[in-house]
Amino acid sequence: MKKFELYHFRKQFPLLQNTSSPRHDKNGKHSAIVYFDNAATTQKPQKVIDSQQDYYCHYNANVHRASHQLSSKATFAFENSRTLVQGFIGAHSIKEIIWTKGATESINIVVQSMARNTLRPGDEIVLCASEHHANIVPWQIVAQQTGALIKILPLTKQGYIDVTKLDNIITDKTKFVACAHISNVLGRINPVEKVIAKAKSVGAISLIDGAQAVAHLAIDVEALDCDFYVFSAHKMYGPTGIGVLYGKKEHLEAMPPYQGGGEMIKTVSFTQETTFNSLPFKFEAGTPNIAAVIAFGESINLLAPYLADINKGYHLYEQELLNYCYQALAKIAQVNFIVEGIPDIGVIAFTLTGHHNHDVATSLDTYGVAIRSGHHCAMPLMANLNIDGCLRVSLAAYNTMAEIDYFIDSINKFLLEPCLEQENPVEKGQLTSTPTNDMADILTLFAKTKGWDSRHREIMLLGKKLPRLEKAQRNDETIIAGCESLAWLSVEQDNQGLFSFTADSDAKIIRGLLVIVFAAFNNKTAQKIHDVDINDYFAELGLMQHLSPSRGNGVLAIVDKIKLLAKP
Ligand code: PMP
Repeated sequence: MKKFELYHFRKQFPLLQNTSSPRHDKNGKHSAIVYFDNAATTQKPQKVIDSQQDYYCHYNANVHRASHQLSSKATFAFENSRTLVQGFIGAHSIKEIIWTKGATESINIVVQSMARNTLRPGDEIVLCASEHHANIVPWQIVAQQTGALIKILPLTKQGYIDVTKLDNIITDKTKFVACAHISNVLGRINPVEKVIAKAKSVGAISLIDGAQAVAHLAIDVEALDCDFYVFSAHKMYGPTGIGVLYGKKEHLEAMPPYQGGGEMIKTVSFTQETTFNSLPFKFEAGTPNIAAVIAFGESINLLAPYLADINKGYHLYEQELLNYCYQALAKIAQVNFIVEGIPDIGVIAFTLTGHHNHDVATSLDTYGVAIRSGHHCAMPLMANLNIDGCLRVSLAAYNTMAEIDYFIDSINKFLLEPCLEQENPVEKGQLTSTPTNDMADILTLFAKTKGWDSRHREIMLLGKKLPRLEKAQRNDETIIAGCESLAWLSVEQDNQGLFSFTADSDAKIIRGLLVIVFAAFNNKTAQKIHDVDINDYFAELGLMQHLSPSRGNGVLAIVDKIKLLAKP
């Protein structure tokens, strides 16, 4: 039990130092980060950071294997973390705590070791409509492997699993029920007790994805009575690359190993059957992430007393932050919350009328505010809500009211910025042709900019120059796969073999980047297009670090498509 004091708590996170109240530089901008992307990953306290370093500096050795002191010390610290996790989630035995890379790997272990070996064609797997891809795709894979079917639990208007539908969907055919304790988009604490009880009543196995719950709720897996509970350390102030699979011992005993290798065996022979180690080691093939396991213990030491505090200071402060942020957002006329009602934890999803979520998030970034935009690894939920993405603010107990004030101020400033003024969704005719800048023009323009903020502004302004495609041109043939905000590209070739590209995106920032890309490729032959060193060009423009191929704005996917279309 520990009394929560914001100052004391926040002080422990080095990345947040000197930012206890948002500061403004001479241009009125924030000079340090306001970090509101905690559902993606939390910041790390000094003790967690030090603990990894301490292991590497003072007792780095492999665990369980050697008969020397360093290894004993490492093994003791490593197993101590397992005991801490056991206490943290109220598991019956340390044998039920398996180290994994994270929630994703934990789910995959259950799916491939248990579900794949037990599902038969026609059996049903029940998921919920708001699941993270990590709790969808592994089940889709196993459904394909076994002939099982996936059924979906719908949501109420407030974004909870609709418990009135449990009896219809979870039936005698159901073999597995998997759902999130808390949705990473909606911030709703799902009625998992009811889901687990219903699964049990039909003899189905339940798996609860606790990735978003562990930093906010005291978890008791015995009380929940779920068969499996999974989570990652990095969302609860711990290191990345380490997570937990909790499973009831009887299930883990019956499951075959997920991976083979060292550590997970008892005996190995070329002449007799190899035998496997006891739990939990049967599921821990190879050298684990020892430093992260040990450091994870420190994050539990930090968090567990706050979650256990009967005065609920930590919890109440999180609720105050949530209320304050939600009410402030609700006062902005353009804000649309994606489901009804205030969330249960500080995860608030919304859109801004007239502005693409990537434009909002990248603009807020220039004010030093880190929030997330996109589908949040919940594409089926986005489809269900009929949106292609949204903004998500996710708060942690080290955030402050002053940061929320600054965030709200930044949104209001964004809404007033002339270069970002609201636009009609898809209008044609204002501009009739793609701007004819070449690379030299763009390089000259960017040479005058200083830093990402002014480059971002130029890109947004360029975005206004790109003529919009007509709706009919935005179709399945022209859509660019891999571009996180929707984008469409079409091409024409003249009788001299020169290619000209036109494109569109709902995000102004992507349209601006398209203008930059077209300056490199338009009016060139296929050979010239393939000769362009786009990485050099982006590097010269200072854009490289903003163009991540998978999670970023997908500009490299656009370049790939251009090269594909321009066949020599
Ligand atoms: N489930 C939920 C609800 C999540 O929010 C996340 C992470 N965003 C995951 C699963 C996957 O966690 P990890 O990437 O750490 O394996």
